[in-house]
Amino acid sequence: MSFYSEYLKYKNFQFNKFLENITSSDIFRIINKDKIDEYDFLTLLSNEAEKYLEEMAQKAHQLTVQNFGKTILLYTPLYLSNFCVNRCSYCGFNIENKIKRKKLTFEEIEEEAKAISSTGLRHVLILTGESRKETPVSYIVDAVKILKKYFDSISIEIYPLKEDEYREVIKAGVDGLTIYQEVYDEDIYDKVHIAGPKKNYRFRLNAPERACKARMRNISIGALLGLNDWRKEAFLTGLHAKYLQDKYSDVEISVSLPRIRPHIGVYEDIYPVSDKNLVQIMLALRLFLPRIGITISTRENQKLRDNLIPLGVTKTSAGVSTEVGGHSSKTKSDSQFEISDKRSVIEMKKAILSRGYQPVFKDWMQIDY
Ligand code: SF4
Repeated sequence: MSFYSEYLKYKNFQFNKFLENITSSDIFRIINKDKIDEYDFLTLLSNEAEKYLEEMAQKAHQLTVQNFGKTILLYTPLYLSNFCVNRCSYCGFNIENKIKRKKLTFEEIEEEAKAISSTGLRHVLILTGESRKETPVSYIVDAVKILKKYFDSISIEIYPLKEDEYREVIKAGVDGLTIYQEVYDEDIYDKVHIAGPKKNYRFRLNAPERACKARMRNISIGALLGLNDWRKEAFLTGLHAKYLQDKYSDVEISVSLPRIRPHIGVYEDIYPVSDKNLVQIMLALRLFLPRIGITISTRENQKLRDNLIPLGVTKTSAGVSTEVGGHSSKTKSDSQFEISDKRSVIEMKKAILSRGYQPVFKDWMQIDY
């Protein structure tokens, strides 16, 4: 059994009918429960629940402090390449877009590593577009071997791998995987992934589970908010995280909440997700899964990111560039999307401290023995 069987249970679920019948007493009853089930979670994503965000925020804050303390882990993305063979209608790296393509040499990777590690960061997330030809697993493995000299935790956000390939990168030094399903609705998935290997919905959906089986230490999943009705996508993201957490209790599971950002090329079919909606998703997720990690990226603006700190966030990026070679190189590529919060690592550190939270630069290290 895989998460696909869970997805099928809800594929034709009458979400709107369920959400229309929620009352304020349902919301209060759920906020006061110790443990909530998936229907309670969906209830907290309703229109009615939007009126009770303050009450949800108090509970979310309490659960987050109880499970994570007042800490925020910092990391930064390092783009290795923007070559991509897919045609995702919502992304600037789409093979159809005539952008400046670049792949870092191993010397350039070392330069990027030096520039990032000089900021004090010890956790890094390496990203590529999805091209097995330009960035094969052997390239990722060699890159990781260089990065290991500078960082204690290396996560990857690349094309989905087979289980034995996940084992291979883990052996090289990778301990984290970020992979977004982008959109859980299978029909919309098929529509927005116009061509390329990414069209294979189930291969991508099962990637986090293959990584769990390969014994990846931490896994971050998510939906790209804006591709479908956010209530359905947030619900399925939560179910996916719960499925993984229940089945692989030794793996740290996190959820990211990225919203579509402007990028090269035009994508018009956007389902709006307001700041308030984003907050509601985060609070509902925290009440549903108290131990889940929650990441908010620099896609969001400074004010919103700062206000979200006490509400459930456990991990955030800083000093971000979405260009290949963006941290050190003079010849950068085009970026994947525009970032909104451009603060440096020092500025983020200060912002976190000013909220009474501890910025964490390192919470794990690999010991070779
Ligand atoms: S979303 Fe990923 S796979 Fe799709 S075009 Fe962008 S980089 Fe390529």
